Amino acid sequence: MKKVHNFNAGPCVLPDQAIENSIEALKDFAGTGMAVIEVSHRSKEWSAVMDECRALWKELLNIPDTHEVVFLGGGASLQFLYVAMNFLENKAGYLETGVWAKKAYKEAKGLGNAFAVASSADKNFSYIPKGYEIPTGIDYFHITTNNTIYGTEIRYDMDSPVPLVADMSSDIMSRPVDVSKYALIYGGAQKNVGPAGVSFAIIRKDALGKVSRYIPTMLDYKVHIDGGSMYNTPPVFPIFVMKETLKWLKGVGGVEAINRLNVEKARILYDEIDRNPLFTGTAAKEDRSIMNVCFVMAPGHEALQDEFLEFAKGQGMVGIKGHRSVGGFRASIYNACPKESVEALVACMQDFERKSK
Ligand SMILES: *Cc1c(COP(=O)(O)O)cnc(C)c1O
Repeated sequence: MKKVHNFNAGPCVLPDQAIENSIEALKDFAGTGMAVIEVSHRSKEWSAVMDECRALWKELLNIPDTHEVVFLGGGASLQFLYVAMNFLENKAGYLETGVWAKKAYKEAKGLGNAFAVASSADKNFSYIPKGYEIPTGIDYFHITTNNTIYGTEIRYDMDSPVPLVADMSSDIMSRPVDVSKYALIYGGAQKNVGPAGVSFAIIRKDALGKVSRYIPTMLDYKVHIDGGSMYNTPPVFPIFVMKETLKWLKGVGGVEAINRLNVEKARILYDEIDRNPLFTGTAAKEDRSIMNVCFVMAPGHEALQDEFLEFAKGQGMVGIKGHRSVGGFRASIYNACPKESVEALVACMQDFERKSK
């Protein structure tokens, strides 16, 4: 089905199988004679989709009984506010690693007392701060595990003396995660687990109920846990596609298998960036993301940037222009991006090198 090599940062490439099954469900959903977007969200056929989706999340990420997963509207950006609403009482600490981290931090500052524990703003977020200490006595410590725009990533589950909150929008399900180390993991679906229109939150239940403010109903995680993500009408179609995306992930071996493939894909591309004299990577090597690979023209070759973009476009590469705050190029190689696409991009970079000699 794929006709191009899709490196979009989000929304982005999804598994063919998930798209095909979703198209079928638009024609006739579970033998109901209706499209999946026409049935009642209280029907037993729809309930089965919700149950299956939740079960896939729990199985794939090995979510312990202490935690519950919910599906919400409003994107990761609304959850920046949910986090502060549900967890901020006195003071919260944020790790400032990019634009998304700053936006999350801003919502907490708007609601109370929040501060940056460490920041990599001094070098345009090209690295992950190290050597800082997570303060004790704060309500929570917020991290962004993958910095989609800058191509840096925290690829391990850190120990934290305070509740750990993580925006995993762009690397959720890319590797096994020790969910028990987090009070909250949240993100938008549209990078690794589905289309735009639904977001997810994995919440440690006993971390809730500790703030004194009134929490507006729709911003209260507990309301969504108690309502089984159906306090109000859920985004049915995005949830359906998410369920199909997770079914695909399970079919290819789950998060361990996809992690191996993701590491391999990233290695292939970074090796070429490091070898090819025309290109250079922008993120600190030890912090390189396996999801978003950022690179620019090497010093002395800057003038070739637009030419390479045109050349790559001609070879079927889509979405490799870097974010405007970094420039250059970004190849997002999420779970559903096939290794063949990564190899095609590498071949394209090599062709361009030959052609430019
Ligand atoms: C894309 C992204 C967001 C924003 O997600 P929305 O669903 O568009 O609000 C937040 N954080 C990270 C790390 C992202 O990559």
